[in-house]
Amino acid sequence: MLKSVLRTNNNLIKLFPKHNSNMAVGKSLTSILYELEKFAPTSLAEDWDNVGLLIEPYNKTCIKNILLTNDLTESVMEEAVSKNTDLIISYHPPVFASLKRITQSNWKERIVARCLKESIAVYSPHTSWDSVSGGVNDWLASALPGNNIKPIKPNPCQPDYGAGRIFDTNVTLEQAISCVRNHIGTDVHLSLGLEHNKATTIKKVAVCAGSGASLLKGVEADLYVTGEMSHHELLDANHKKTSVILCNHSNSERGFLQVFKEQFNKILNNECEIFVSQKDKDPLITVK
Ligand SMILES: [Zn+2]
Repeated sequence: MLKSVLRTNNNLIKLFPKHNSNMAVGKSLTSILYELEKFAPTSLAEDWDNVGLLIEPYNKTCIKNILLTNDLTESVMEEAVSKNTDLIISYHPPVFASLKRITQSNWKERIVARCLKESIAVYSPHTSWDSVSGGVNDWLASALPGNNIKPIKPNPCQPDYGAGRIFDTNVTLEQAISCVRNHIGTDVHLSLGLEHNKATTIKKVAVCAGSGASLLKGVEADLYVTGEMSHHELLDANHKKTSVILCNHSNSERGFLQVFKEQFNKILNNECEIFVSQKDKDPLITVK
């Protein structure tokens, strides 16, 4: 009995040699791109954005390992290589402004060069994930109890999708702070609207993942939740009796990666190994 088990184990070891120890069978890049497009059509992205497949390796056909990150920094790049990554899904596009050369003189160009050398594809969904129902803004909005949730700026073709979210709630400002902190798992910064205090009842909330000032400007709500706003934008909101909770830019987005990982695993029938980056982090930390 023991011998037969050992023989079976040896056969298994031969079938799955150590450098390929995960059980992912892999899928073609084309089929994964098809599923990503189905999940959130790139046509939902803002006109100014740069979404979709940004780096396509010369000879990559089978994708086994997928790394999810909010930002593709050089430390995330190292992690991707160490995990034998075939595809990086970077929420923010790592290539945005036009590149006129690919040299070793700046970090963005080095990342492109490294991806091409290691045959790693890069895809960025950015504002298509913000817009889609069940995407990044819905994840951020789900921090608070609420109903009657709508996009702040509906997509003209699909009004259920769009930029930001606005909804009704009924919590004190103190409860709202606690909800947001629990949801994103980090410190938050509060800017108080005129005549507000932590016992103030919040009835209407507007959220925008990332940098929300331009979208939230003029939106009537008791509370904004976003990643970052400038000093003057905060003063302006406060004078309109709106309190603001800031989480730091990428902290208002990153938590969605875990939600996406679980959904995409099901969509791909677990045929790929999906990792959420452990090196990806907001560049700001709070010092006490
Ligand atoms: Zn962002």
